Amino acid sequence: MDKAKRKAIIAGNWKMNKTPKEATELLGAIKPLVADADCEVIACVPYVDLAAAVEATAGTNIKIGAENCHWAESGAFTGEISTGMLKEVGAEYVVLGHSERRQYFGETDETVNKRTKAALAAGLKPIVCVGELLWERECNITEEVIARQIKLDLWDVTEEELKNVVIAYEPVWAIGTGKTATADQAEEVCAFIRAQLAKLYNQDAADAVTIQYGGSMNDGNADELLGKVNVDGGLIGGASLVAEKFAAIVKAASK
Ligand code: PEP
Repeated sequence: MDKAKRKAIIAGNWKMNKTPKEATELLGAIKPLVADADCEVIACVPYVDLAAAVEATAGTNIKIGAENCHWAESGAFTGEISTGMLKEVGAEYVVLGHSERRQYFGETDETVNKRTKAALAAGLKPIVCVGELLWERECNITEEVIARQIKLDLWDVTEEELKNVVIAYEPVWAIGTGKTATADQAEEVCAFIRAQLAKLYNQDAADAVTIQYGGSMNDGNADELLGKVNVDGGLIGGASLVAEKFAAIVKAASK
């Protein structure tokens, strides 16, 4: 399957930025700029912004996602959020296993897997993030790290469920650092991820999965990164908070 047949997806990851009022304003600015996008456009926003974001984007081509979810339906999990809560508010996507969750909040491949399974069971589309630390890249174990994450994070995810999974390759050393992987580095690992998916499932299933690159993608480097055959989109942090920059990335993905 060639790249043109896969769905290109540009997703903003707002992290811990923007109040509900600011979210409405930012989405109001983004809306007209991406109205004719020829790719999927998503904004993954803080929980308290979800309702405002869904309202602000009603009837547009922008979909809304959350930044995490718990695997239990309800219960004694202070500070967590359930898939049912996200569904009811209108979220369609959820970012899982982001390196900031792994680094600062003890997220492991086991919990990423549990969250992924729960999201899929609830009808949410998970954007599952994988990526190596700088130290791991320097030790030449990038492929080992990625293979392990892909295998564990997608453990017990069926081929049918895989159709609703998006993978984001995010080298940890490139996130929020201004250091972007070169287009060749991004392509190399995205192709490796697809090869791993082919091993775990089959080539057709692997060819259909949207694999994004994330890590300081911006309006200046998006064209080159998105031009690579296995890079099907981007997960965008910093640049997703500036309407014009985010829209320029969406435009690059629409070519
Ligand atoms: C991210 O948060 O997923 C990300 C890629 O951030 P940034 O674009 O700021 O590096």
